[in-house]
Amino acid sequence: MDFKDITRLLQSLSPADRKKVHLMLSREFDAAESAASRLIEEIREQKHKTGFTCPHCGHNKAIRNGTFQSPYGGSRVTRQRYLCKQCGKTFNDLTGTPMHRSRNKELWVSYIELMLEGHSLRKCAEILGVRHERLFYWRHKVLVALKKMESILPFEGIVEMDETYFAYSEKGSRKVEKPRKRGGVSKRGISDELVCVLVVQDRTKQTFSKAVCRGRILTRHLEEHIAPRITRQNILCTDAWRAFKTFASKRGIAHYRFKSTESKRVKGVYHIQNVNNYHSLYKRWLSRFAGVASKYMDNYLAWFKFLQENKELSRQALIRSMFVAACTPSTFETETSLRQARFAA
Ligand SMILES: [Zn+2]
Repeated sequence: MDFKDITRLLQSLSPADRKKVHLMLSREFDAAESAASRLIEEIREQKHKTGFTCPHCGHNKAIRNGTFQSPYGGSRVTRQRYLCKQCGKTFNDLTGTPMHRSRNKELWVSYIELMLEGHSLRKCAEILGVRHERLFYWRHKVLVALKKMESILPFEGIVEMDETYFAYSEKGSRKVEKPRKRGGVSKRGISDELVCVLVVQDRTKQTFSKAVCRGRILTRHLEEHIAPRITRQNILCTDAWRAFKTFASKRGIAHYRFKSTESKRVKGVYHIQNVNNYHSLYKRWLSRFAGVASKYMDNYLAWFKFLQENKELSRQALIRSMFVAACTPSTFETETSLRQARFAA
């Protein structure tokens, strides 16, 4: 049945029945509108925990500065505007969120729901009526925000650390780099055609995961990415690779090493089975995307981490939590900035 059929059907109804349909639809619009204002309310509370914080300069010297009408689905909602006393710029509750400037604000919650259900972009496009190319950028706007929510707290107690590798990929980029000349064979056969993903996890399941370099991981990568979060209070478990050994001994951290050739890779509570398990779960989960560009690897790692950390939530709570998390940090990614980004590690 298409729109024309529905119109014809409506015209055939009695005036009383037509009134009933009208009331039913307007109730639905009201429900959508109040759901939207509840979500915006929640985003506001998360973003402005320490006063009205300006997404442009970060100061919390902003004041309310009138309201404005904003389209939301088929209706309009009243929203608050703020003025920053520090930088003089104005903003609203959605400035610096993935929805900023989006013409389909009402579709974002549904899109996040579809993301969580694991649908392909084409399937999402079919359901939402938004081009799948655009939805690809929606996905990454959400993921960039999740990535920004990463913890920087120190790890507790026993810390497992191990790296895994993915083929370097520029999937989707129009201009493919010329193959570079390489001098000799890299250590242990791991060349810079591979991207190294480091996973660090303590037993409270606090996790760090990041594409840290191309080729074999070195001590300086560990120093750069993970050093402030591991101290002498921790006990480190890794494989036998010498970068880990150098890192631990330089910083005076107790260290257990497990050779991959050894059959017994557990010493009491010391092992690296949780991070190895994390690697294999991540690889299995990632395979649904049929290859991702390396420059987006950290985005997918952030998504997977979010799912792991929120496994216990109900479906509705998970949708809500991902939506609010995506809108909490200030990000100003655009389709152009995402397209032009390069693998940074
Ligand atoms: Zn400001």
